Amino acid sequence: MTKHEQTDIDLLVAVACGVIELTSIARSSAFQLPYPPSLQLALDRMVLAGLIQSLPMPAGVPELLRWCRERRPTEWPLALPSGFLTSNARLIHPAAGEPTRTCAELASLGPHGGLEQKAETLLSELAAACGTAERFAACRDFLIRRAVILRFDPVEMLQPAVALTWRLVKQLYGSVPDCFSADGLVHRCTDCGLLAKSMADGLWCEGGCPQGDGKLETSHQPRQALALPLALRLFLALPGRTELTVRKRLAEQPRLLPLGLGVHYVTDRDRTLRAFQVHDREQPAPAALQTAKIAAQLGEPLDVVVPDDLAVHPWYRQGFDRALPVDARVRLLSASEFTAPQPTNRMRRNNA
Ligand SMILES: [Zn+2]
Repeated sequence: MTKHEQTDIDLLVAVACGVIELTSIARSSAFQLPYPPSLQLALDRMVLAGLIQSLPMPAGVPELLRWCRERRPTEWPLALPSGFLTSNARLIHPAAGEPTRTCAELASLGPHGGLEQKAETLLSELAAACGTAERFAACRDFLIRRAVILRFDPVEMLQPAVALTWRLVKQLYGSVPDCFSADGLVHRCTDCGLLAKSMADGLWCEGGCPQGDGKLETSHQPRQALALPLALRLFLALPGRTELTVRKRLAEQPRLLPLGLGVHYVTDRDRTLRAFQVHDREQPAPAALQTAKIAAQLGEPLDVVVPDDLAVHPWYRQGFDRALPVDARVRLLSASEFTAPQPTNRMRRNNA
């Protein structure tokens, strides 16, 4: 990657961070004043880069947000590495008006780690409050299964089976953002379990489920609905659906290491422990960069397990492998490959 390409990735990441911050503070509308400093700073950096290179850039924040919604980053005057983002990526969904998963994933490449780091911090604090690995695992599973609680029932949360877990996790929940409440209704996607919108031309959900596949559960009482922060919805609960399936298929119950978003260990066929983490990301290149960091933190090989419907696309595997640093001890596997009874034919990279 050239220095120019890295600079322009940093610019795009700065814009993504600004968009995420804007939606986190302006709940009723993504386009209310005042704009957060991060968004204004991202615009200033874009304008400066445009002046230096004589390239057209947005004149103000409203135009920058219009670019995010109407133009693919590949159409911006930026020198992004070939294949860094999928061709149809946008930072704001054109119909739903919400930050896309691409935006959230790019924002996580920022200097402070953005949304993914926020999810890791929240989980780390939860692990400390839990005290034991078993209790933390139970709380983490609760969050995965119930990222959005459409109808909060206080009596249910007092039941002995969930009371302790609820006491530990309840501070993570908040009301559903106003932008997801329309006409007195709040929707949850039955497929990914995340927040959704019913629009004139179909459904949209945060998890990016294909239109037409998903169904909605609806509550007529938005004030009774609770949701985890966006960071936990996208970076814990979304891949968590696949993680639960993978864990169920394994012959032994894997052991959870409370590192970052959670890394599991399972006994490999050669009787050694093997680390794996389940991911569900829209953009393979930023995902590869993030997983390389996790493997480096672990100091050992890491299997990154992704949903079958993602791994089935050759462009996903190619984009991931191409972006993976050469010294990264990471291999990408589909959920089916990882849980297959026979050794997979997937090549291991760099001793991973
Ligand atoms: Zn969905």
